[in-house]
Amino acid sequence: MPRENKTFRRKSPDQATSTWKEQELVGGKLVDAAVIILRTTGCSHYHKGGCSMCGYNYESDKTVTPGNIVRQFDNAIKDMGEFRFLKVYTSGSFLDECEVPRNVADHVLKTAKDRDSKLLFESRPEFVTPERLGQILGIHDDVEVALGLESSNDRVLQYSINKGFTKADYQKAATVVKDKGADVRTYVLLKPPFLTESEAVVDAKETVKFAAVLSDTISLNPVNVQKGTLVERLWRNWAYRPPWLWSVLEVLKASNEYRKKIVCDPTGGGKERGAHNCGKCDEMILASVRAFSQSQDPGKLGSPDCECKDIWKSIMAMEGFVMGGNADLQRFFKWH
Ligand SMILES: [Zn+2]
Repeated sequence: MPRENKTFRRKSPDQATSTWKEQELVGGKLVDAAVIILRTTGCSHYHKGGCSMCGYNYESDKTVTPGNIVRQFDNAIKDMGEFRFLKVYTSGSFLDECEVPRNVADHVLKTAKDRDSKLLFESRPEFVTPERLGQILGIHDDVEVALGLESSNDRVLQYSINKGFTKADYQKAATVVKDKGADVRTYVLLKPPFLTESEAVVDAKETVKFAAVLSDTISLNPVNVQKGTLVERLWRNWAYRPPWLWSVLEVLKASNEYRKKIVCDPTGGGKERGAHNCGKCDEMILASVRAFSQSQDPGKLGSPDCECKDIWKSIMAMEGFVMGGNADLQRFFKWH
C-alpha cells in the first residue's frame, strides 16, 4: 500500500502505527479520507519468508492483543474529524482472523457504517471467501477490498516478489468481491527486483490491463526501498534502483485507456529510496502525478523538459544488454 512518510509514528500498543488525512475522488467527488494503520501481530505470509519489497512487518508486534487493536482504532478515530472515506490498513490482511479477530473487524465495520463512510481494507486473496464477504457486507455495505496483485505474471509473482499466490488466486478473490457487490482495488507494483527498467514498465502496463477487468480502482505503487527487505539488500549492493519517475508517467499514460480510476502516490517519491529522477524534475512530476490521481485528468500528467529523460531512454533501450543490469550512477556520484 502507499504510505506517507510525513506521518507521525507511535510506539504504544494502544496507539495506531500512524494516521493521516488525505483526499480521494469517490464517485466523481473529491472527499476527505481518514487513513489509519493499525499495529497487529503481523502478516501471515511474513512467516513464510514474506515479499521481497515489503518491510511493513517491522511495524507489527507479537504482543498486540485484540483489545489493543480496538483501542488503537478508537483513539485514532477520535482525532480524525469529518471524513467520508475510511482506509484501515494493517501490516497484512484485515480478513485474516489470526491478525484481526472477527469482533475487532466487526467494530471497525460498525464504526464506518455509523460514520456513513466508505471503508477500504486490504487482504491477501486466500482470506476472501463468499461467506466472510457476506458477513462483512451484512454489517456495512459500502466496502472496497484492496488486493495486492502486484504483477499479472506468475513468474514475477513467484521469483521476483515471493508473493505466495498466483494471478488465478487473485482473480478468484476479486470475482468473489465483485459478485457480492463490493468494490475491488488492485495494487500494481512498478519495478519488482530482478527486472530491468523496461521489463518493469512492460510488466506494470500488462498488469494494469489485466487488473482493469475486475477492478474499480487501480493503485500503481512504485517500489520504495523498505528496511529489512531483500530489495534493500540488493539496493545496498548497487544491484537495484527504484523506478524512474519517467517510468511512472509512462505506465500512467498507457493505463488511461481502460477508463478505470487509477491512483498513484509514490512513497518516498523523489528520494533515493523511492521512485526518482535526477532531482531537478522530480517535484514537478510528483505534483503532476498527485494532480492526476485526484482528478483522473490525464492532461495533468506533466512531461517537463529535463536532460535526464535521455538517460532514462538509454537505460530503457540498453539495460537488457548489460550483464547484471546497470548500477545507479547518479546515486554513486551524488554520494562521492
Ligand atoms: Zn530530470
